[in-house]
This record gives sequence, structure tokens and C-alpha cells, in this order.
Amino acid sequence: MGIPVPEFKVLLYGPSLHPSGIRARARFEGDSLAVTAHKGFFLVPPHLINLRTGGFDGRQWLITWAAQEGTYSAMLQSEEALEAFIQLAPEEIGRQFRQTHKSQLLTGRRVIIGLIVLALLVLLILGLFQVNADRLSLWAVSHINQEQEEKLGDLIYAQMRPSLKVLETGVTPAAVRAIGKRLTAESNYHYQFHVVVDPRINAYALPGGHIVVYTGLINAASSAGEAAGVLAHEISHVEKRHALRNMVHALGLRAILGVALGNYSGGVWGNLAEHLGSLNYSRELESEADMEGLETLHRAGIAANGMETFFAKMTQWENATTHLLSRHPAGDERLAALRAAIARQPIEAGPPLQIDWEQIKSDLCDSAQNQPDCSV
Ligand SMILES: [Zn+2]
Repeated sequence: MGIPVPEFKVLLYGPSLHPSGIRARARFEGDSLAVTAHKGFFLVPPHLINLRTGGFDGRQWLITWAAQEGTYSAMLQSEEALEAFIQLAPEEIGRQFRQTHKSQLLTGRRVIIGLIVLALLVLLILGLFQVNADRLSLWAVSHINQEQEEKLGDLIYAQMRPSLKVLETGVTPAAVRAIGKRLTAESNYHYQFHVVVDPRINAYALPGGHIVVYTGLINAASSAGEAAGVLAHEISHVEKRHALRNMVHALGLRAILGVALGNYSGGVWGNLAEHLGSLNYSRELESEADMEGLETLHRAGIAANGMETFFAKMTQWENATTHLLSRHPAGDERLAALRAAIARQPIEAGPPLQIDWEQIKSDLCDSAQNQPDCSV
């Protein structure tokens, strides 16, 4: 029985050894390193011994030395091996170990500091985006030309279309198109007016010129002039690019990315239709659409009293779902502003709208497709 020789396990790599390393045992004989493997024995003098860290995660300790046939490395495989090595190493090797260890810690710390700085930068960019969201949205909108805007509108309408019951033919869609055509005669946009079977009192505009009108609104209007007032308001949301602005704002970074990439396909813009529900306009934009709507009626030579009477009715209705006026605390104020504007600039009415609105409504009621309340 002898005293067990203090040694530690290593994995040995080197010329003509198996590439995944061979098991070996190492110990110190004086200041020299002695490595024993079944394929041979190495005695490495202290001046040839080098320490470095390596391995796939950079945290393995390697003892390396140069020999005539090439460089050898002995990897300390486990925590126990590392501890034994530290205990047994002669002073000079121990000093080398501490130095390498210190620089490794520093590198690790630098990596952590780098990551923290990166995270702060990302937060800063996101923060800047939040603060500048309005300006970025305006930038994006100003870089979307009319053709691209119409393409986006077509994309949204195509996404919405399967869930809508659209009246394609008949006197009602024809009447709505006729009024719309007269209102948009001077516009650069290519408008499309869609009548959707839905009893709610609603109408809305998509970017680029799609206007959707519910049958509920058609039934709630008393005359072609009232319907024209609503259409003029919606057309103004298109002309003033309110619909586009709201959509870009709701989409945020994604819209800005789409504009920056010049990509107007569904891939980048995603399912736009699902964002429409949240597209409520600010009070300023609604007021602007009111005033611009009056101008639109004026240019088309259509009397503004239809717009006024319909909006006055809407302030009284609870069930109106449109953004037009209802449920807005500012409804009365907007109506007052509308009346004042009409008083300032009376419209020289052109040829009257040759549409019998009662006929349109009874036609809607007769239509087998149509479900709205026909008593209105
Ligand atoms: Zn509006």
C-alpha cells in the first residue's frame, strides 16, 4: 500500500490522437506536468506549459504545450479536476491560472455590460417610437402615394368582403352609386360604393375610396339629400386621408416598416380588416370631415339641408353605431358648427337628385335578401 498519487483526470488532444480526445491522468512532478495515457507518457517542463480557456462554450480549462510533432492540449474535464489542478499546481502555473481566470471574468463582465447597453438601446428606440408615433405615422402617410393607398384599400376590402352581405345589383346600389358619382366628379380617387345588408345605422370609408353604406342607414334616411350628406362626410374622410392616417396609426411600426420597404402586400400589412373596428376618428377629424363634406355638397350643387336634418336626427338616436355623430358628447357642438357654416355659405342648389327615396326603401324591403326593420 502506498500513498495515492495526487492527480487529476484530463482529456488529451494532439497529433495522431483520436480527434475527440483520449482519457488521461495528469499530475505534477516537481514543476513539470506529467500526463499518462494508455498510448504514452508526456513530461512537460514548466516553461512549455500554457493555460487557456476553450471548449465549445469557452469555459473549459486547457493546458497546452508544444512538442516537435505538434501542439497537445489536456482539457480539465470536471470541477473536481479543476480543483485538484489548482491545489497541485506549482506557484508559477498557479499565477498564470489566476491571471487567465481574471481576464476571463472581465470578458464575461464585458459581455454582460454589452447586453445591458443593447437592452437599454432597444428600450430607448421603442420609447422614441412611442413619443414620436404621431410624427412617424405622418411621415409614413406622406410617403404613401395615391396608387399605393388605393391598393391598401382594395386589400382591406378584399379581406372584409367574405363577411359582408353586399347588394351588388338593384335600384338601391344604383342610387347610392349615382349620388356618389355626382359627389366625386372632381376627385382623383376611384371611388367604389358598396351597399351592405345590415340593420345598423352605419357608413364608413376605407383608404383609397371604398365607401360602405349599411341598409340600416338607407332606411333611416328620409331623402336622397340626407343620404348625400352622409356620403359627402365619408368621402371627405377619404379626400383628407383620415382613413389612411388612422389605419397607419393603428398599425404602428408595421405600417412604417411597410412604407420603408415599399411593400404594400398583405404579407407586411397583415390582416388590416381586423383593425377597422378600432378606427374611430378624433373630434378634430370629424369636424374637418363635416366642413369638407359641406364643400363637397357645394361643389356638386346639392343642398346641405339634408346633411343637417340627418345629423340632427342622429344626435337623437341611441342605436346609431356610426362615428357620424351619435354617442359623441360633442354631437350638439358639431351640429351647431354645421348649422353656422351652412348659414355662412348657402349652397346654390343644382339639378335636384332625381331619386325617389321612398321607392328605394320599399324596394329594399321587398328584396328577399334584406332583413332590416322596414317600419322606418
Ligand atoms: Zn366621420
